[in-house]
Amino acid sequence: MARYIFVTGGVVSSLGKGLSSASLAYLLKSQGYKVRIRKMDPYLNVDPGTMSPFQHGEVFVTNDGAETDLDLGHYERFTNIAAKKSDNITTGKIYSDIIKKERKGKYLGKTVQVIPHVTDRIREFIKGDITNEDFVICEIGGTVGDIESLPFVEAIRQFSNEVGRGRSLFIHLTFVPFLKSSDEIKTKPTQHSVKELRSLGIQPDIIICRSQKNIPLDQRKKISLFCNVSIENVIETVDVRTIYEAPISFYNEKLDKQVLKYFRLKPRKKVNLLPWKKITKTVLNTKKTVNIAIIGKYVNLKDAYKSLDEALIHGGIRNNIKVNLVRIESDKLKTNQINKVLKDVSGILIPGGFGKRGTEGKISAITYARKNKVPFLGICFGMQMAVIEFAKNILKIKNAGSSELDKKCYPIIGLINEWNKNGRLIKGTNKELGGTMRLGLYEAKLRHNSLIEKIYNSKSIFERHRHRYEVNNNLKSRFENKGMIFSGMSPDGKLPEIVEIKNHPWFIGVQYHPEFKSRPLSPHPLFSSFIKAAKIY
Ligand code: GLN
Repeated sequence: MARYIFVTGGVVSSLGKGLSSASLAYLLKSQGYKVRIRKMDPYLNVDPGTMSPFQHGEVFVTNDGAETDLDLGHYERFTNIAAKKSDNITTGKIYSDIIKKERKGKYLGKTVQVIPHVTDRIREFIKGDITNEDFVICEIGGTVGDIESLPFVEAIRQFSNEVGRGRSLFIHLTFVPFLKSSDEIKTKPTQHSVKELRSLGIQPDIIICRSQKNIPLDQRKKISLFCNVSIENVIETVDVRTIYEAPISFYNEKLDKQVLKYFRLKPRKKVNLLPWKKITKTVLNTKKTVNIAIIGKYVNLKDAYKSLDEALIHGGIRNNIKVNLVRIESDKLKTNQINKVLKDVSGILIPGGFGKRGTEGKISAITYARKNKVPFLGICFGMQMAVIEFAKNILKIKNAGSSELDKKCYPIIGLINEWNKNGRLIKGTNKELGGTMRLGLYEAKLRHNSLIEKIYNSKSIFERHRHRYEVNNNLKSRFENKGMIFSGMSPDGKLPEIVEIKNHPWFIGVQYHPEFKSRPLSPHPLFSSFIKAAKIY
């Protein structure tokens, strides 16, 4: 029978609830338990798919095609458990489900209300799609005390009452500031945050205190006393040197031990922290660096390309080299400055993107990479730009473009309205933007003797997609005659998935997003190979 662990946050946001939840999930999984980890987001968008990365960071895509919160990326990277559509919900989705049901008259004349209807729907989410999991960890987005998160807090209170305290555990993550001027650690914000939580009917069982300094015993005792939590359950988390150290740090702080103790369970096997220790050591000790340029629209926001940044770092770990990410804002990249700006980089990456802004800079950077034989990786929009660049400059199709950006162009990249998935026809549309793209895992067949086949060491791959436009397959032979080969295709041979340039040491464009499948403990082959090529450039 599943046990439920609810993780809330207090005092301030961005304390690392996702990382704490993911680390706990790893520790429990490593001790032989089956774990599921999910996230509830209190905003009104149905999913983060329509939100700008400036607002909410990256949109993470699951195998089954859900556009989800980037925390699900942390979960996957730390636990290697593939997240599903059923692992992320938002207030917007809950209300849209409820209103649909109401319009169909399914509430049989009742007044539809936050309690019980919204809270019931949240409770349904918490226990939905669970089979033989031992633990379900549910993170609640936002901070306790926000108006938006109230129904979620109320729902987990009800849920705990339903399944019983023996099967539910509340973890509250707070901030314990250090005041330099008085050289003191302050517990008051934690006390207030827990007071707020208790006023909503929830007594936390474990408090995780995020702090810049170790919390002295006296202060821990104070938190224990005022917040009504036993001293062993006041757990500190001091800033780690690299995120890969987080599972080790939580283990040392006995978070997993206290969780198991609460549920009266014992480890089924010994925890394995060796891989984390190994990569922490690599990350902290590697001196040699390689500069990789990421040219995109959202480079100024730390989390906008989270999985991508991570995947590049993983590639570095595999090659024993530190990847220095050189973030370049595409709309500021002027063609006449390209040589200067890119002079010191050994690899160029153009990530996914939408819309016209900054495309000129991207195209010029691709020309530079192609001519100077700099290792190049184009992802999704980046691949589409590489194909357009080739069409313009090598095939001499002057008005080559994408119909996403220019309705009057020669559509080298166009909207495909239908494609095959499991024999089923799925309609693509740009009339409504939410959830209508080609999303999730699709197969690609790899060309024999191509670079991509060597990299994956396989004839068939499955990767995650998130795009609406496709490379126009009608021009395949023209491209191939001039040296850009379509080395990965959809199984029906209609959709180009991968392009590469023959007389270039490493120039690859992929229509999918390989970054979503890279893990620190098992780096993605495409990123490992890209960094290897950059290392010898
Ligand atoms: N805008 C492009 C499309 O919809 C690429 C999307 C992406 O890079 N994720 O096809």
